[in-house]
Amino acid sequence: MSDLILFWHRRDLRISDNIGLAAARKRSQKVVGVFCLDPNILERDDVAPARMVYMIGSLQSLKERYQQAGSQLLILHDNPTQAIPALAAALNAKAVFWNWDVEPYSKERDRIVTETLKTKGIEVQNNWDQLLHSPEDIFTGSNKPYTVYTPFWRNWSSKPKTEPVEELKDAENLTPAEQEAAHQSGVVELPTAKDLGFVWDNELVTQPGEAAAQEKLEEFCDSHLGEYKEQRNFPAVHGTSQLSAALKFGVIGIRTVWKATETALENSRSDEEQSSIRGWQQELAWREFYQHAMYWFPELAEGAFRELLQNFPYENNEEDFQAWCEGRTGYPIVDAAMRQMNEIGWMHNRCRMIVANFLTKDLLIDPRKGEKYFMQKLYDWDLSANNGGWQWSASSGMDPKPVRIFNPATQAQKFDPDGDYIREWVPELRSVDTEYLVTGKIPALESEAVGYPAPIVDHNKRQRQYKERYQQQKEQF
Ligand code: FAD
Repeated sequence: MSDLILFWHRRDLRISDNIGLAAARKRSQKVVGVFCLDPNILERDDVAPARMVYMIGSLQSLKERYQQAGSQLLILHDNPTQAIPALAAALNAKAVFWNWDVEPYSKERDRIVTETLKTKGIEVQNNWDQLLHSPEDIFTGSNKPYTVYTPFWRNWSSKPKTEPVEELKDAENLTPAEQEAAHQSGVVELPTAKDLGFVWDNELVTQPGEAAAQEKLEEFCDSHLGEYKEQRNFPAVHGTSQLSAALKFGVIGIRTVWKATETALENSRSDEEQSSIRGWQQELAWREFYQHAMYWFPELAEGAFRELLQNFPYENNEEDFQAWCEGRTGYPIVDAAMRQMNEIGWMHNRCRMIVANFLTKDLLIDPRKGEKYFMQKLYDWDLSANNGGWQWSASSGMDPKPVRIFNPATQAQKFDPDGDYIREWVPELRSVDTEYLVTGKIPALESEAVGYPAPIVDHNKRQRQYKERYQQQKEQF
């Protein structure tokens, strides 16, 4: 009889192109999957219902994939530091395999699980899977982690990338006695998101599960990738992949994604197409840059990276914050973006930058409040990418440019010149002239008539205030 290996899924909800799972299958035919619904995560106040719907849907699909491969996915709903070792012991597993993660919580949890398994005489094997290059692979010339993206990209992109690995097949399942032992040890049926208290009735921009993510990748590569560079900044255009949730939960393998870009490069017909494909590869590298940063500098999760911004005198006006959250700041591009996120759990990248910049530099509100609100809403929320984006927008992170201030009107004029995005998400402004929408200068009588608020702050005034405070901070250092 083969040795039983338990494969613990976390941010790799797939059986295809999964390095740790392929390694487990290589070692033994008897590979059984497990996912632990962790109350330490589910009971936090920053869990977006849309994210849970995507995660549970992807777990449902993963269950089916395991069955097709001859095995099964077990579900636990308990603290993994205790539940994973208990299940492994109950099943008499030879080993538990899982893929590493970069986040501080995961690292500490995994350390405890590893120790407990080892004291029970159960082997542990880990792999890097969610990145093309692990944080231990990419260093500066002086052997330090990178804190600046451009040289990171140069080094990262020059390294050869591995091919996708084989998907799980011909696996062996548990015996009836082992099934019984699994249930005795706390295995439960997969609940719905509603069972867990998360209600979300809107459509997700990408359906859960491996097949949907693969389809989305193919559709993007066939129809949009060649024009990514021209289209990626226009929120009214479907010009980006919308693969962020699939990448966050590992519903698609990063090697599979990379291979698709290489195939697209081989088939490209012009310099423009090639430049677009390279542009998209650079976004995949931003994802890795921020994950490496989180791995090496876990303090990023707590607040500003730059000391200068650590005790910045933010105003934190609660009414302004609520207006920002609800999309009623009186700045049409900001409100459209916030309403898009509130409604569909996803926001275009250009708009994430605009609203984050507006919250911190126009409303003078601590970026951590915005970062948390994004966690509560985004179905693709990822600690490293979200934190990286917020630190960049708040000028508190690793970005070498000291202060970057966006003017919402200039942003709207450039990236939503016809006001299509604004009209889509702020329906009361549909009949208002484009000129007013993109400059934000809607005549008071007109905005009153359609029930749209006047701007809650004056951009020029607030920009000056922000700069003054920044200057004062600088003088203290
Ligand atoms: P595409 O343009 O198709 O890019 C492909 C993939 O590359 C994305 O799916 C994502 O995995 C990665 N990527 C692209 N841009 C970035 C970036 N700037 N940083 C890191 N990875 C990137 N991304 C998240 O995945 N989760 C978040 O919680 C998140 N929060 C953000 C918060 C702020 C304030 C900002 C400015 C950006 C944030 N991003 C986040 C990055 C980016 O906005 C999204 O990854 C992107 O909009 C997702 O859409 P897409 O899949 O169509 O992207």
